Amino acid sequence: MLYSKMFPKTDKNGKKYESPNATLLINGGFVNQVMSGVYTFLPLGIKVLTNIEKIVREEMNKIGQEILMPALAPKKLWEDTQRLNQVDVLFKASGANPLSLERNDTEYILNPTHEEVITPLAKHFIKSYKDLPFALYQIQTKFRNEPRAKSGILRGREFRMKDLYSFHISESDLLDYYHNKSIPAYKKVFERLGIGEETVITLASGGDFTEKNSHEFQTICDSGEDEIYLNKETGEYLNKEIVTDFTPERYEVFKASEVGNIFPLNIKFSKQLNFTVKDEDGKDALVYMGCYGIGTSRIMGVLIEKFHDERGIIWPKEVAPFDVHLIALDNHEDEIKNKAFEIYKKLTAHGVDVLFDDRVDVRAGEKFADADLIGIPVRIVISKRTGNKVEYKKRDEKESILLSLDEIVGILK
Ligand code: ATP
Ligand code: MG
Repeated sequence: MLYSKMFPKTDKNGKKYESPNATLLINGGFVNQVMSGVYTFLPLGIKVLTNIEKIVREEMNKIGQEILMPALAPKKLWEDTQRLNQVDVLFKASGANPLSLERNDTEYILNPTHEEVITPLAKHFIKSYKDLPFALYQIQTKFRNEPRAKSGILRGREFRMKDLYSFHISESDLLDYYHNKSIPAYKKVFERLGIGEETVITLASGGDFTEKNSHEFQTICDSGEDEIYLNKETGEYLNKEIVTDFTPERYEVFKASEVGNIFPLNIKFSKQLNFTVKDEDGKDALVYMGCYGIGTSRIMGVLIEKFHDERGIIWPKEVAPFDVHLIALDNHEDEIKNKAFEIYKKLTAHGVDVLFDDRVDVRAGEKFADADLIGIPVRIVISKRTGNKVEYKKRDEKESILLSLDEIVGILK
């Protein structure tokens, strides 16, 4: 990709927002704020989000099948589970249209989560214990009317989530899937995203979903909105809300951001919606369910909160928008310009994804500042001074080294 053609460019004189992820994403040209908690993902931003969701998808494909449910649902589905007036962040959409009497009084829900859609779907197709267990997931846009959407993309009112739902004949089968399939798959996701070590499993209440406990995946990070408590004796992490007898000697407190949450729903939804299958004895048995969320757009924000410095973002390699940021200096001279384009073509031919700053009317300092702000893991510079070599520098290192192009291709592969 030629940076000269990229929409839009960075805004280095842009303003400072409440949180580093908002400041860096907006000024770096990754997202654009439409209103509080609602963002457009720009070309750089959608690349990162897609990389995150690709990792999530690859790991979820090992434990479930992908579907795509609608964002919009009829109100009745939410009446059936009695959550219409229970979920405080529900967005209701009106079908009222002054030009059409027929479309006057229908109300819809913009789904904040999808139990209301998936349970009837499973009920429609699944009739026997022989069809169990199975799991479905989607990666989709969710809507929640969050009262304080002030942490950039950490808390959106419209945001991206992977939600998986599993269906079982017994509680023991559900718990087996929950502990031995979903938790290992989640650990793998966070490891691949570069936050494996700082993401801890935390015991929490079940919220709107279940009376049972749930498990949150909390990434320890200063700007996180949650507080989690490490029990120093047992090594267990607990969400603040379930710590009943706080004693400072016993607990260490951390700020953290919830990047995932898994719930053993048991028969909560199948009971409400009368979702049964024939068991081995031909009797009707309620289906056990689990649900498993990962906040993919929140993760993008968390990665920035964790990996940045005073100059900009430092993307983990696995999710970076490009592999290499190639900068041409002195490229008003044809020789350098041509050399730079050759390097760009050669790297691209080797499957390296390159953002090439080919602008001729921009100072070196500005190009370097843009590269630091955008945060691509490797920077390569070609100029009058680099001769037959190029300058190679990692975003998180200070010193650059001179290497031949073949050496660089070797490192990148
Ligand atoms: P929170 O406590 O942060 O409000 P939640 O517990 O209500 O989140 P869940 O229903 O557990 O959220 O949703 C699953 C995942 O979706 C969360 O673990 C989080 O990563 C993500 N998520 C939830 N709400 C938002 C939001 N408003 N913006 C971005 N991501 C979100
Ligand atoms: Mg949660």
